[in-house]
Amino acid sequence: DMKISQRSQQLQPSATMKISAQAKQMIAEGLDVINLGIGEPDFETPKNIEEAAIAAINDGKASFYTPAAGLADLRTSVAKRTAADYGLTDLSAKNVAITTGAKMALYATFQTILDPGDEVLLPEPYWVSYAEQIKLAGGVPVPVPVGETFKATTKDLAAKLTDRTVAFLLNSPENPTGVIYDREELSALNDWTKAHDLMVITDDIYGQLTYNGATFTSIAQLSDHLDPRIVIITGASKTYSMTGWRMGYAIADASLISKISAFLSHATGNPTAVSQYALLEALAGEQGQVELMREAFEDRLNTIYPLLTEIPGFSLPVKPQGAFYLFPDVSEALKLSGIKTTGELVSRLLNEAHVALVDGTAFGVQNHVRISYATDLASLKTAMARIKDFMLQFK
Ligand code: PLP
Repeated sequence: DMKISQRSQQLQPSATMKISAQAKQMIAEGLDVINLGIGEPDFETPKNIEEAAIAAINDGKASFYTPAAGLADLRTSVAKRTAADYGLTDLSAKNVAITTGAKMALYATFQTILDPGDEVLLPEPYWVSYAEQIKLAGGVPVPVPVGETFKATTKDLAAKLTDRTVAFLLNSPENPTGVIYDREELSALNDWTKAHDLMVITDDIYGQLTYNGATFTSIAQLSDHLDPRIVIITGASKTYSMTGWRMGYAIADASLISKISAFLSHATGNPTAVSQYALLEALAGEQGQVELMREAFEDRLNTIYPLLTEIPGFSLPVKPQGAFYLFPDVSEALKLSGIKTTGELVSRLLNEAHVALVDGTAFGVQNHVRISYATDLASLKTAMARIKDFMLQFK
């Protein structure tokens, strides 16, 4: 008979990808559904990047295996760029592993640092894949409840610290809340993790998507040398609108990167060659498009946020500063409508209002939904009007 491992039996498909697939199916059936479910920029990848990939194919460069952790030139380019952006000295190709999306950078990192039973602190709400990936590596995800600001403090973390804790996962700007930790907050977290000798995995993938004057600081930039306890995870998906190309990277101490590279050599062999040539151009080429896309997201946030706050039962007192999500509290909406769970609310909004959102329980917390604003302004306005109309029927 067929056999499925215990490990796989416990695994749930990504909730964000599931709702998005459902919405795409409804759209394919001819229904006018607005998909605010997925975390994917709606822009086509900038032309110079696409053309570099086509040139690599035409030159025959995309046909072959590359080193497991990526092309030497690309690793050097990422090292230089990170050194400049983060103000870190002594970064070189040896500190960089290019991976099949930031997802694989995270996966390889957990596989490389975790032993069975090792605990990782995850501030709530947290991105769905962290917890599943930690479990797949034999580790234990430890959700950390945080206060109203959505930001973890050392007190929050201390409440969940045990002698099995080995790492803390930080995501800023954060999916799904859009909050950004400031330097002072990061400094406190850094000192605390240092005192408890914890690794810090900092997922900086939304670092270039900050709005209305907010700035991004990574916990990795508090000193001018990369601390061996810190692993930076980032990638091209969000910044360059390159989700389909699957280009991410881990930046860490050279000895850790060499282990990550050994893992990758067995897992993926190498990240797709043509995508690496595309990433080379993304990093080296003209950056004007990046700013245009950022401005478009800022405009969308500034349009959608006031509309959201007018929806009965949806509450989000603090306007987010980064990424491209809103994570309102919908406790009142549940009360007003008599709908029992956020799962049911999301399902009724999809079927009756034709707007796809994500149930906040996918991020480990109750009474919230996630709204992605990575879509055009007209659709966002229509979607907010539809949700408002849906809620007004209960008034
Ligand atoms: N980290 C966070 C917080 C994300 O939201 C995502 C994508 O949704 C990723 C990592 C992974 O991105 P990718 O694998 O496309 O590079």
